[in-house]
Amino acid sequence: MSENITATKYEFKAEVKKLLDILVHSLYTSREIFLRELISNASDALDKLRFELNRGTEVIDRELPLEIKILNDEKKKLLIVSDTGIGMNRDEVVTNIGTIAKSGTEEFLKLLSEAQSEVNNLIGKFGIGFYSVFMVAKEVIIKTRSYRPEDKAVQWRSDGMGEYEISELDEKIPRGTRIEIYLKDDANEFAEKWRIESIIKKHSNFISYPIFIDKERINTVSAIWREPKSSIKKEQYDEFYKFLTYDSEEPADVIHKSIDAPIQFNALLFIPKKSNEFFWLDRENYGLDLYVRRVLIQHKNKDLLPEYLSFVKGVVDSEDLPLNISRETLQENIIFTKIASSVTTTVLSYLQEKAKNDKDGYNNFWKEHGKIFKLGYTDFANRDKYIELLRFNSSKCKDENELISLEDYVNRKLENQKEIYYATGVNRDAIESSPHMEIFKKKSIEVLYLYDTVDEIILTSLRKYKDYEFKSVETIDPKKLEEFKTVSEEKIEKEELSKEDRMHFSSLLSKMKKILGDKVVDVVESNRLVDSAACLVSKDSEMTSAMQKILRMTNKNVAPQKKILEVNPNNTLIKNLIKVFKNNSDDDFIVTATQQLFDLAVLGESELDDIHSFIKRTNKILEDASNLYVNAKKL
Ligand code: ADP
Ligand code: MG
Repeated sequence: MSENITATKYEFKAEVKKLLDILVHSLYTSREIFLRELISNASDALDKLRFELNRGTEVIDRELPLEIKILNDEKKKLLIVSDTGIGMNRDEVVTNIGTIAKSGTEEFLKLLSEAQSEVNNLIGKFGIGFYSVFMVAKEVIIKTRSYRPEDKAVQWRSDGMGEYEISELDEKIPRGTRIEIYLKDDANEFAEKWRIESIIKKHSNFISYPIFIDKERINTVSAIWREPKSSIKKEQYDEFYKFLTYDSEEPADVIHKSIDAPIQFNALLFIPKKSNEFFWLDRENYGLDLYVRRVLIQHKNKDLLPEYLSFVKGVVDSEDLPLNISRETLQENIIFTKIASSVTTTVLSYLQEKAKNDKDGYNNFWKEHGKIFKLGYTDFANRDKYIELLRFNSSKCKDENELISLEDYVNRKLENQKEIYYATGVNRDAIESSPHMEIFKKKSIEVLYLYDTVDEIILTSLRKYKDYEFKSVETIDPKKLEEFKTVSEEKIEKEELSKEDRMHFSSLLSKMKKILGDKVVDVVESNRLVDSAACLVSKDSEMTSAMQKILRMTNKNVAPQKKILEVNPNNTLIKNLIKVFKNNSDDDFIVTATQQLFDLAVLGESELDDIHSFIKRTNKILEDASNLYVNAKKL
């Protein structure tokens, strides 16, 4: 072997060094995944070559079969993985192997160094690719030759310690990449044939190119999505899913469809049991693999499914697309867009069936993937299906785990009820102690509980379900609820105010308005409150406090909306205030109490954790204080 004597030394980029450092200094039980990563790189390189062949690009060694070969030498503790794929030239080696281009790498490295005990798991799921070879190698030599006739073959060599060297190869090596792995002393097992074979069977069985160890083909299974459903066992689906996703668990759902008209395609789709914990780190990591006549056209195509269904994994294969279709023009291809919309409805119909036939299963789905699924409110084409699939917790649920559909809500709504009511808050307790809920409890009107900031945006933009408009408990005009009977069992002692006290009460309201000035639109008697002393309301057409908060978060110039302070004359504090007011309408206590009441009402609208309990407590203190005040003054 004659190598070019002038090898150039390079230093690894900082993030590569960091990754290598973690890989070398941690203990792993799943080092074997390095082979999965190398084989998957080889398979990618073969896919890219096949793509060029289909496009009619000039390629060297055209007659070479597309395959992956593994050689092992137990004596030399050497393992070689080679492919006849696209190969790399010198520049490509420097950029592809010397840096990590994967999105989210930085965050991933941070996670890795913080959670040492999770390293096995994290590496397996994230797929850190080529560098994982240094978990088992003390030295790695890559010999590679690009498919382009003008490119020279190159050699890359490193011990994974911080530097690598590259030299040009004079010898004529065939197209593709050959990776020689000199194993560490404690990694000899990876030179043993049975061990290599079992790793391939476990992690790489569905690679669509043949993998040989010493001329013996190891992987057997091919495109199972093209086979009839009845011929495939659950284990095969599970195995394929694990291969595809690196998930260690089985999928929650398998959707296998073969469609012939108007456009032929096969789809094998999976819904994972757990939502992808790396979603925010690794946002690009979604999409379906698109095949044309069993040939992979694109990994993780993002246009076959809308983003809100991005939790779905799998493959789509069509006879009706041209093999030489370019990825760039896919979106403009009418057959492709028809396939994509059919894949979307396939998933939505599957979910509808599941919601009908397997309630618990569907609720589990919702708890895992609902957060992403909800974002589908912009899919107008599938609005009817989408809206039926939404789930909510509500005032009629026994706890916060129970979920209902909008159909459930409408089926048990009150007679003549024309709106669907909702309340927002951080959790069930917070919503239930909100003063806005009092009238709904009193009349036993069901209210949807929204815990996620985005929920209200969704309902606001959907506007209605069937003929029922979504309406916030905060902006509802209590007059509209008048026709619904009070059903609350607790008897609230309602001493009617005397005529005289009524007059004083209405003067007190004016006084309170004066005290609060332009902080409020008005101060009025409340028809909605049962226990609480006061609350803030907006007019029917106005925005709820949660929506305002979202607006203020995105645009700081939005001034807080002025509201009406509603005051409840049945509340002890207010009754006492009337007495104080009767005695001396300029009493300082009225000012203090009014300001305190207002501030508490404002606090009640913000999204602090269970602020409403705090308000109830504070009001109690005020009640006690007013009692004391009245007693002390002997009013
Ligand atoms: P990823 O596969 O996620 O891109 P890797 O670390 O596994 O990350 O590989 C880095 C890059 O090195 C690949 O994207 C590819 O460009 C190149 N590469 C790795 N192995 C091969 C190979 N066998 N043939 C051609 N290119 C390869
Ligand atoms: Mg890779």
